[in-house]
Amino acid sequence: MKEFDYVIIGGGCAGLSLAYELEINDKLKEKTLAIIEPRKEYKRDKTWSFWKVFNHNFEDCIIKSWNNFTINTSENSHELRTKKFPYQSIDSGKFYKKINSKLSSNSNISFFKNLNEINSKSSVVFNSVFEGELDKSKLWQHFQGVEIETSQDVFDDEILNLMDFNCDQKNNVHFFYTLPFSKNKALIETTWLSDLKNYNLMDYDLQLENYIKNNLRIKNYKIKFVEKGAIPLFYPSIKKNSKIISIGSAGGMTRLSTGYTFLNIQEHCKYILKNIDKIDKVEKYNLGYKYKFLDNIFLKVLKKNPEKMPNIFYKMFKCSPNTVIKFLSNKSNILNDISIISKMPKLIFIKALFN
Ligand SMILES: Cc1cc2nc3c(=O)[nH]c(=O)nc-3n(C[C@H](O)[C@H](O)[C@H](O)COP(=O)(O)OP(=O)(O)OC[C@H]3O[C@@H](n4cnc5c(N)ncnc54)[C@H](O)[C@@H]3O)c2cc1C
Repeated sequence: MKEFDYVIIGGGCAGLSLAYELEINDKLKEKTLAIIEPRKEYKRDKTWSFWKVFNHNFEDCIIKSWNNFTINTSENSHELRTKKFPYQSIDSGKFYKKINSKLSSNSNISFFKNLNEINSKSSVVFNSVFEGELDKSKLWQHFQGVEIETSQDVFDDEILNLMDFNCDQKNNVHFFYTLPFSKNKALIETTWLSDLKNYNLMDYDLQLENYIKNNLRIKNYKIKFVEKGAIPLFYPSIKKNSKIISIGSAGGMTRLSTGYTFLNIQEHCKYILKNIDKIDKVEKYNLGYKYKFLDNIFLKVLKKNPEKMPNIFYKMFKCSPNTVIKFLSNKSNILNDISIISKMPKLIFIKALFN
């Protein structure tokens, strides 16, 4: 069986981002790479959105960027503006196409459907597939989104709605998210923070239909695209093996308080690129112990007090836009952190800290 210098298990966001980063930086001229990916075809399956806090390789895959966003509770609405860190949405279809067309020009890169097809014993392996079944009783961010098109112009495409808590919470945390790509096209998502065992929360089609009709007051529309997902808001178990480097969500690249992963994956790829010749010897990349500690407390509060979360999120966004964006994008300094923490209700956070 054929041997390869590098093996990437999973040709999704992290696997392809890493292959692309290595390829464009000439690291695969003298080395061989096998990508293990079972999917039969690549097509748009996700929309990756984030605040652009640093430059990335996929500016040409952007559907739209915004400088303004709102957050709503049933009582309040708050608008934030930021020129420095635009919010961007990436079309995964364009992303897959761009990367696959680049990789196909290098004969050192091969795709396989199954790891058994190659000999990976002496390869450096990058793994983006979770080890075993993930615990459904833990906290997840689960959601479904529909991209709709209307016959008339109904959206303000200058401003996105990041979180609209004006909806039934069912003793969990629930919000809608609206990304207006144009005046007559938007992605609307229903998002829950809960365990994955409560099937009462999963009638997503109905939730979206009601929200579009009753909250957005749109009667006539066509559904152009549907995406669905569940992101674990807990760290995956990672086997200790210096020859296997975990990447992507399976490598702990999800920020637990938000579910944002895309830009963390890009930063991890840059770290791997920088250290590729000694990757089995350098320290494992992580998002920062500070965020691990703070997110852990935040999620404890969330689990114990779901009914308080709309106001807690709302208060967090009362900080200056750049402060809150930097905090949520793991780029905050101590002053930013203090500013965020000072907005939080002290007693329940202190209780969570000692529990
Ligand atoms: C619908 C959706 C929307 C999201 N939106 C955002 C967002 O807006 N912003 C953000 O920051 N994050 C978002 N995320 C979270 C995160 O960015 C994505 O999940 C991202 O795709 C994670 O990349 P990954 O490479 O870890 O996983 P994936 O992209 O899922 O890649 C894993 C790959 O492994 C393959 N695979 C599965 N089993 C095997 C196997 N046994 N052997 C080999 N390969 C296998 C899969 O086919 C897949 O291609 C979203 C997630 C989902 C599901």
